[in-house]
Amino acid sequence: MSDNRQPLNPDAMRLDPPSHGLASYPPVEKWDDWVEYDTAQWPRKVEKHCQIIPTICFNCEAACGLLGFVEKDTNRIRRFEGNPEHPGSRGRNCAKGPATLNQVTDPERIRYPLKRTGKRGEGKWERASWDEVLDDIAGCVRKALQEERRNEIMYHVGRPGHELLYHQRILHSWGIDGHNSHTNVCSAGARAGYAFWSGIDRPSPDHANARFILLLSSHLETGHYFNPHAQRIIEAKEAGTKICVIDTRLSNTASKADYWMSTWPGSEAAILLAMCNVLLQEDLFDRDFVRHWVNWEEFLREEHGNKPQTFQSFISILKEIYASFTPEFAAKEASIEPGVIVEVAHEIAKAGSAFSSHVWRNTAAGNLGGWQVARALQFLVVLVGAVGTVGGTAPNAANKYIPAPPHMPPPSKIWNELLIPKEFPLAFFEMSFLLPHFLKEGRGKLAMYFTRVYNPVWTNPDGMSWIEMLSDESKVERHACLTPTWSETAWFADYVLPMGHASERHDLMSQETQAARWIGFRQPILRVALEKQGKKFATTYEAHEAAGVGQVWEEDEFWIELSWRVDPDGSLGIRKYFESPYEPGKKMAVDDYYRWIFENSVPGLPAAAAKQGLTALEYMRKYGAFLIEDNVYKVHEAALKAADIADASVDPQTKIVSRNGAVLGVEVDGKACVGFPTPSRKLEFFSKTIKDWKWPEYATPGYIKSHVHPDNIDLNAGERLLLPTFRLPTLIHTRSGNAKWLYEISNRNPLWLNSKDAESFDVKTGDLLKVHTEIGYFIDKVWTTEGIKPGVVACSHHLGRWRLAEDCGGERWSTALVDLKQVEPGKWLMRQIHGIKPFKSDDPDSERIFWEDGGVHQNLTFPVQPDYISGQHCWHQKVRVTKPGPEDKYGDVFVDTNISHEVYKRWMSKTRPAPGPNDLRRPLWLPRSYKPAPEAYYFTR
Ligand code: SF4
Repeated sequence: MSDNRQPLNPDAMRLDPPSHGLASYPPVEKWDDWVEYDTAQWPRKVEKHCQIIPTICFNCEAACGLLGFVEKDTNRIRRFEGNPEHPGSRGRNCAKGPATLNQVTDPERIRYPLKRTGKRGEGKWERASWDEVLDDIAGCVRKALQEERRNEIMYHVGRPGHELLYHQRILHSWGIDGHNSHTNVCSAGARAGYAFWSGIDRPSPDHANARFILLLSSHLETGHYFNPHAQRIIEAKEAGTKICVIDTRLSNTASKADYWMSTWPGSEAAILLAMCNVLLQEDLFDRDFVRHWVNWEEFLREEHGNKPQTFQSFISILKEIYASFTPEFAAKEASIEPGVIVEVAHEIAKAGSAFSSHVWRNTAAGNLGGWQVARALQFLVVLVGAVGTVGGTAPNAANKYIPAPPHMPPPSKIWNELLIPKEFPLAFFEMSFLLPHFLKEGRGKLAMYFTRVYNPVWTNPDGMSWIEMLSDESKVERHACLTPTWSETAWFADYVLPMGHASERHDLMSQETQAARWIGFRQPILRVALEKQGKKFATTYEAHEAAGVGQVWEEDEFWIELSWRVDPDGSLGIRKYFESPYEPGKKMAVDDYYRWIFENSVPGLPAAAAKQGLTALEYMRKYGAFLIEDNVYKVHEAALKAADIADASVDPQTKIVSRNGAVLGVEVDGKACVGFPTPSRKLEFFSKTIKDWKWPEYATPGYIKSHVHPDNIDLNAGERLLLPTFRLPTLIHTRSGNAKWLYEISNRNPLWLNSKDAESFDVKTGDLLKVHTEIGYFIDKVWTTEGIKPGVVACSHHLGRWRLAEDCGGERWSTALVDLKQVEPGKWLMRQIHGIKPFKSDDPDSERIFWEDGGVHQNLTFPVQPDYISGQHCWHQKVRVTKPGPEDKYGDVFVDTNISHEVYKRWMSKTRPAPGPNDLRRPLWLPRSYKPAPEAYYFTR
């Protein structure tokens, strides 16, 4: 790929232009032997020959393409750049993509399997062999399966990946309901709001073609899907599209927006409903779209049976329902000006079907009832008919492709109450962050606990309760931590198992980055490079050892090998799912697996490969990505196939099209369409599910007052709202702790304080404040700024990493050394011994570290606060802010886990437990990761 841009350096303008302009990227035909000069040898011109091998970034879910430059003479990775052949990222990355190099070359990385030798948490480790580890873990798993203790096996995932194809194979073939995820501390609130509308839990905004963009977050620079969305938002902005950002904090995105609404956290649903009200009262909505695609008939039948069952009657009722959401009411809730609400509503109406929007974590993850923010935002999208349109917002399933893998096991017939307990029948993901409290209450124990790139001790609220749980061998009998880096959680494992970074593993990715469908292929580039040189390896860890990385493995092969050892003779019925699709009885190799998928279930790929004389697998190894379909719009309108509807019937009342009890779609204006995967097959303004499951007051989009509503906070008594959910654009939770370039940019997380609040607390930038939560306190430095609303204090969750030993257990680029004591039962005090310091290593940069402050770990001091419906942890905290006492020090953290358990019980008491209709644990239609078989959904079966 090349273009004709002019050089930036004025001196270069005097040079003869290159014959084809300046190249932005090495052209694909040169990837096998790319020649460049070694910059370290300048001014001598010393050539370096590289193989360029594509892979996929592992630092966030966006799955951008990377190109790894592998030196041919040393087999070292020279650098990472963007992959121009990747349809989502188009050759561009955020800072975290190229910093993959730091992660791969980190002198402190874990290179071999480790097992603990002392007590759990004591920090004594010795090197183990993969054989030893696998045999021990396989023995634990087999025994639990044979003794029908299936719910004692749990696989807890932090960084997503592999789920398209692999996780389900393991969980279902083992016959367990054991997938636990981090999602309820992350995006479950927004997901629930979207799924109650469309059955699909994520939005896919077509930002590039939008005429107006509304972001409830800080997406452009610091939010979810940072780079692929950001580059398209910028394109739209360059073309004249206006942007509104609703975010309490002045994010990078807000600073570039046309409208910034700095709202009181939790008031956002009121604002969005006020905008809906403007559209309704002024008749600025898309009547045809609403009439065709919203389940208004069901709403009238269920809620207003005595009124005319007409569309006009529905609109009149809508206007009545939302009339109380005046701009003045919403503005008062949010503490902003009402005029801007009306102005933005008019902009949205003007954009019509080219209105794109997004909410992900932010307010939806901060507040009680946050899921209603997503529901209210989607209401706006529905009203202007911008669902799946050019420049609109599609359900993400339209813009994602999940290939079918070879022979998959049937779903397991078991329900694990440690994941979705009866109190949370509508929880949008597993209630993972409550696990320590469940075990404390005696709801179960774990025989084998896997954590996968997951650091709950640090990431989750109430981390001290996690430490108590993980330290107790009667509650967690065996803990294996699969991780590329040290973490606070790994310290409390029995095995620390080194898994590869982005360039050290296979995986398939597909994300809703734009109105298209693509797949991306993550691959272990050193293994690929060595194999291109003619070397052969049975496993990726052997290739890594040959390349000098150590025995760093990849999960695909780990799980295949482990499953064979769990079921060595095939008698448990597991092994057959891990045999080659080409040679039954032979252990599956990763090449077999991906070859089968690329040849059999990616439309267009085999033909595209054949055109170039390649196999489908060779094509993916060469390019790293494949565009399956571009410009995907209005998927819900797709007509059902004539063959499917030949003997189908249409329900005269609901217009649902079905055959033999299986729902196929819905008839709209006489046309049988696919529709949406909801019970009505329409967009559910009214959710009968929510009504039937005991929350009738929230069956339509509404406004739930947050637990941190201004009514609950007494500013005069020193109380404030703590906003702890925002990201820094250059970091990614705990995975970037070993990326020196990223820590050089961002290395502390002061407490943002408006200058008015600074005045009332009599502090200035750099002074200390003590922030008291319900279960403890932390002490941080102040940063005074106008970028935060008065009454709200804010602290980024990306910093405050710590380790318990000087030279082990945490990357020294990013962790403070701390002393952690239990001063009384349940009362924990953490104090920093020293901050970040230079250290000696193979990397001379480690002696050049100039930053000393690694930030403060605030999440430890947060009690669990599960939203009663979505199950999302409500991150925002009501805090009391004081000056520190004479004994207090920067970075101090104190927590009382006895109180945290009481707070847990208080929130649990507000839930409305299952069973729901028909003695169900959960609605059968509602999405769930790796759904068990239907019979597992019933309490009595
Ligand atoms: S947005 Fe950044 S961190 Fe996320 S995948 Fe792309 S390059 Fe990696």
